[in-house]
Amino acid sequence: MNIFNEYNQPIIIAGPCSAESEEQILNTAKQISEIQQVRYFRAGIWKPRTRPGSFEGFGEEALKWLLKAKKEYNISTCIEVAHPSHVELALKYEIDAVWIGARTTTNPFSVNEIAQALHSTNIPVLIKNPMHPEIKLWIGAIERIQNTGIKSIAAIHRGFFYYGNEKYRNKPLWQIPLELKTIFPDIPIICDPSHIAGKKEYLFEIAQKAMNIGLNGLMIETHIQPSIALSDKEQQITPTELKHLLNQITFYTTTSNDPLFTNKLNILRQIIDEIDEDLLHLIAKRLEIVTQIAHYKKEHKVTAFQLSRWKNILQSRKNLAKELQLRENFIHQLLSLLHEESINIQNQVLNSQSSHSKQPS
Ligand code: PEP
Ligand code: MN
Repeated sequence: MNIFNEYNQPIIIAGPCSAESEEQILNTAKQISEIQQVRYFRAGIWKPRTRPGSFEGFGEEALKWLLKAKKEYNISTCIEVAHPSHVELALKYEIDAVWIGARTTTNPFSVNEIAQALHSTNIPVLIKNPMHPEIKLWIGAIERIQNTGIKSIAAIHRGFFYYGNEKYRNKPLWQIPLELKTIFPDIPIICDPSHIAGKKEYLFEIAQKAMNIGLNGLMIETHIQPSIALSDKEQQITPTELKHLLNQITFYTTTSNDPLFTNKLNILRQIIDEIDEDLLHLIAKRLEIVTQIAHYKKEHKVTAFQLSRWKNILQSRKNLAKELQLRENFIHQLLSLLHEESINIQNQVLNSQSSHSKQPS
């Protein structure tokens, strides 16, 4: 039984990026324990910093503060583990769940070592996506934890590193967590909008999007005084702001028991099914014409790719898309995909040995 699926409620995890002092932990924990939706109090004990010299966490000392907060405010605690010794200390200080950070998921050696330390502990584990968008590493880390016998597993989507300047600190690439969901339908996926956003003003839009697409919870960095935080200060919010944010977000369930809703949904889905069928027939017809064109081009020794024709297609379809109020970028991608397949088919025809060009054997 996976305890993350226990209540059919979004799994909300909140707390500071780092545990910085006993006072900070106790004050934050007190205020967070008063927010009814929050299930786990998080705090970083050992901080993976990109360069040496930055604040790297207080280690075992900070675990004593967390244990005190747990006892005093009756909250469940959750920390990052990146090494077998972290797991040992997490158990010693009665931590309720541990997560594997993005940098660790990237490294199968480290995940293996942590998995060995977790063996026969039964502690719930959350696994963040790797730094770069390679879903197999994420799947592999989940499988390594599953192999220890641990049943309570969740994934955390915290976005992906990319080179260059964009709006968010880490790119969300939502199709990756959705693909993970198709592979592990029983493993809840929690969104970490804090590390995706990098700035607190984007938290709402990312968190709402995650809820809209059916992710199962949120991990939000919350600090008693973000302006003096020792790490990630731009993305942290106060417990009061957290309470407000959680009240602003609309949480959706994946199903509804209302028969009217189910009935209407079924009718609309049937229409979609029919449209998709029509679309596939039309695509097949389009590609059939492409094959005819390819044979014709071969006969006349004309190349598969014709720049002016491609430009024409793009322009005229984009004009129509505008009239139909379809997003230009979406239509561009769709046409590029069709064009790529068309070039592949023509290439096959041009490469094939036609009967009259065969050499006598
Ligand atoms: C964190 O949650 O504090 C953290 C270090 O996150 P990530 O592994 O996603 O960078
Ligand atoms: Mn952080």
